[in-house]
Amino acid sequence: MKENNVSRRDFVKTLGVVGVGSMVGASQTLAQSNAPAATAAPASVKPVKIPTRTFGRTGVPVSMLALGGIFDIESNQFVLKQALDWGVTYWDTAAGYNGGKSEGGIGMYLEKNPQTRRDIFLVTKDDGGGLTPALNQSLERLKTDYIDMYFLHGLDNTTKLNDEMKAWVEKAKADKKIRFFGFSTHKNMENCLQEAAKLGWIDGIMLKYDFALMHTDAMKAAMDAATKAGIGLTAMKTQNKSPIATETEADLKLGGHFIQRGFTQQQAKIKAVWENPQIASLCSQMPSLTVIQSNIAAALDKTSLTAADHAALREYAEATRSRHCAGCAQFCEAAPGHQAPVGDVMRALMYHRSYGDPELARTVFRQLPETARRGLASFDYAAAERACPHGLPIAQWMREAGELFA
Ligand code: SF4
Repeated sequence: MKENNVSRRDFVKTLGVVGVGSMVGASQTLAQSNAPAATAAPASVKPVKIPTRTFGRTGVPVSMLALGGIFDIESNQFVLKQALDWGVTYWDTAAGYNGGKSEGGIGMYLEKNPQTRRDIFLVTKDDGGGLTPALNQSLERLKTDYIDMYFLHGLDNTTKLNDEMKAWVEKAKADKKIRFFGFSTHKNMENCLQEAAKLGWIDGIMLKYDFALMHTDAMKAAMDAATKAGIGLTAMKTQNKSPIATETEADLKLGGHFIQRGFTQQQAKIKAVWENPQIASLCSQMPSLTVIQSNIAAALDKTSLTAADHAALREYAEATRSRHCAGCAQFCEAAPGHQAPVGDVMRALMYHRSYGDPELARTVFRQLPETARRGLASFDYAAAERACPHGLPIAQWMREAGELFA
């Protein structure tokens, strides 16, 4: 990792406040006033730039924090400017985010600020259908001639990564429409990484990865295989959010532990992921300056998590196991009589209830096969529930999803 010599202390000083708790309060004021934070910096303070890490064999240095674009970027252009000013140059979007307003918002920014394009590591993803028209549409919306990293969106196996796909990738690279290629994955991540590592032509993967998943033997082996193959890795969904949104004793306990340490629990969760150097960048949804500032403060802070911190995270993961879906659909979706894409429905529920983004939840839900959507409430989930290592009440949550998204 390339370190720069700006610390969290300098960053906090830049904002003119004294601690993380105070910083969040000040950030809200900044966000509400829509004032660029940099204007408040004393002249003696160096400009904040977040550290970079090398993205696998591509050799490209990317900001260790990536701007996740699942929000209305068209209406929040100031977030892009401030992200760039602070060195958050890895921008992630997808054709389907906010009905195209995410890509459109980035395009709006690049049209007005074309000189910034070379500084940005721009990532987008297809949205089903034909790849060439999807790529051309993304280029048009993003107002750019090339995508730095083009991901197939949401793979749960690697069957699409065949010779035909490889030829398409080679042509898109030769045409200079994309620089690098890979995929994102929320389900069966470990198997996807292992299979991709054997192919030799996958440049990058964005995967669901968090403080709970990162310690399993299967995940560690998959990360090792992908890293050995030179695949650049981006972590997403690092907060381990749930398809239900209730706060429990465990949340309060974890929050209390980290406040004593000077962090929020959200900051601790991303610091845990960053402690794995195999992760080149961590993608976080950052629709406001408040969230960006909190994440940057965590990135600049050089305090390592202690054994007690890791123990607190593990204890939390264990205590909340029965309300978190780990994306291990190889269990529930392989159960006898399986009919529903349980893992995808869980993700839609999480977007709706924990991310507070009903539009994205509906987009994910609408992409499921119609037979699965229609039958959601009536399928038999007994075998899937027996197979689920987290003991999730799959039948109940599938029924709730069916009603919620009807
Ligand atoms: S419902 Fe259970 S088995 Fe299925 S993906 Fe979620 S945690 Fe894994």
